Amino acid sequence: MYLLDVDGVICDFFGGVEDFFGLPLDPHSYNLAGQLGLTQTEFIEVLDEHFWANLKPMNDWLVPVLGKVILCSAAGCESPAAAAGRHKWVKKHYPELELISIRNKSLIKGTLIDDLVSNNPAILFPAPHNSLRNIKHIEEYICTKL
Ligand SMILES: [Mg+2]
Repeated sequence: MYLLDVDGVICDFFGGVEDFFGLPLDPHSYNLAGQLGLTQTEFIEVLDEHFWANLKPMNDWLVPVLGKVILCSAAGCESPAAAAGRHKWVKKHYPELELISIRNKSLIKGTLIDDLVSNNPAILFPAPHNSLRNIKHIEEYICTKL
């Protein structure tokens, strides 16, 4: 069973933050709050349900190639607005999938695919802020890891 992270993998959180604040941000840094001059708490508080519910999907090839998959995201733990918005987003784009909102993803048994090194994923998903940033053909790369 694959556990699939949402933000930065199948949901364009980074682009959504740029649009929300109307500012270009550095994709190589994962500290978006810091780039905006906010604390993490201030950053999360300002992101409303509409923001979370309307993020753009990305990499729509991924779920079909994985087969059995559970979505696994920390976003819903951050605030009631994030939880509600994330729930709406999943219902809209992946109504057939279960969503687990959890910070410590290692507590769930499965093969985690995630863009954040600190989540210790079995398969690191290439992203500008991790060591796989230079991988051009992400779909090909991921398929070799499954
Ligand atoms: Mg992520």
